[in-house]
Amino acid sequence: MTTSIQSVEIIIPLYNEAESVAAFHQQVCTAIADLSYRFLFTYVDDGSSDGTARILEQLQQQDARVRIIELSRNFGHQAALSAGLDAADADAVITMDGDGEHPPALIPQMLAQAEAGYDIVIAMRQEDQQASWVKRSTSSAFYWLINRVGDTRIIPGAADFRLITRPVLDSLRQFHEYHRFLRGMVAWMGYRSIKLPYSPARRIDGKSKFTFKKMFSLANQAIFSFSLVPLYFVISLGGIFLLLALAEGLYVLSFWVSGQQSGLAPGWSSLMFVLLIIGGTIMISLGIIGVYLGYIFQEVKRRPVYLVRRTLGRTQSSQPPLTP
Ligand code: UDP
Ligand code: MG
Repeated sequence: MTTSIQSVEIIIPLYNEAESVAAFHQQVCTAIADLSYRFLFTYVDDGSSDGTARILEQLQQQDARVRIIELSRNFGHQAALSAGLDAADADAVITMDGDGEHPPALIPQMLAQAEAGYDIVIAMRQEDQQASWVKRSTSSAFYWLINRVGDTRIIPGAADFRLITRPVLDSLRQFHEYHRFLRGMVAWMGYRSIKLPYSPARRIDGKSKFTFKKMFSLANQAIFSFSLVPLYFVISLGGIFLLLALAEGLYVLSFWVSGQQSGLAPGWSSLMFVLLIIGGTIMISLGIIGVYLGYIFQEVKRRPVYLVRRTLGRTQSSQPPLTP
C-alpha cells in the first residue's frame, strides 16, 4: 500500500532557542535535500525572550517555506505543539524539538514508513547515556507509573518526535482538552503505528527548557488526564480501613463476650497510630479528588490552550483551529 504524500510540514516548538535554531534549520535542510516532497516549516515561538523571534524572522526572509507562529506568552511545550498542529496543512506532519536532540537525519526514514502505509511513525529514543542520571531515572519511573495506573500504554523513550499522516492530524484536532499529553493522546487513538529507534544527538546549544516544575506538571497531566485509577485506589484504601475497623470492633467484642473486658487496656499510642493513618489517608484522598476537581474546573472553562500573537509567513491554513 502506498500513500499519496506530497506535502510534509515540520512543526518545531521553540522556547529560548536562539543559539540553536539557525543551525537546526540548516541540519533539517541538509537532511531533506534529496527528498522530493513539498516541505513546510512551522516554528512555534513559545513566548521566547532571548531573541529567538528575531532569528526566526531572518530565517523566514531567507526561506519562504518557513512560517512563524508566535504565541502571546510561554504556554509550554505541549501547547506550542498544539498550536502548530492546529495550523498545519499538509499530507504528513512531523513534530520535533528545535534543539538538535531529535536528529533530522531520521526524517527520510520516517517518510519511508509513512509511504509504506503507516499512519503514525514514532521515533523512539534509545537509552540515552548523555542524559543525566536524574533525568534518566525520573523518566523511567514516570513511564513505569503511567503504564501501571493509566488506561493507555505509552512507550518509554517516545517523546514528541513523530510523524502523523493527515487522517491522524484531523483526528487529533478533535481533542479539545486543556490538559494535554500528546503522546498519550496519540497512543490512545490507535491507527497503524510503527516505532523507529534512534540515538539522541546532543543539544546544539543552550540548556534544557524542561525545568523540574515543567516535568512534574507534564507527569501530572499524564496521570490525571489519562486515568481514574488514583481515585479507585483511594476508594479501595477507604474500603480496607473500614474492614480494619470492623475487625477491630469484632476483636473488642470478643473480650466482652468472653467476660474479659477488664483486659482491655486503654491504649493511647495505638489510638494515635490509627488516627494518624486515617487522618493521612483522608488528606491524601481529598488531595487526589481535589486534583481531579481542579482539572475538571480548568476543562469546563474551555479556555484556549494557547493564544497566537501573530503569524508570519505562509498565509494561515483555511482550516479553523479546533482547539477551543
Ligand atoms: N519548549 C517549548 N516550550 C517550553 C519548553 C520547551 O516550546 O515551555 C521546546 C524547546 O525549545 C525544545 C523542545 O520544546 O524545542 C524540547 O525542550 P527541551 O529540549 O528543553 O526539553 P528536553 O529535551 O530537555 O526534554
Ligand atoms: Mg531537548
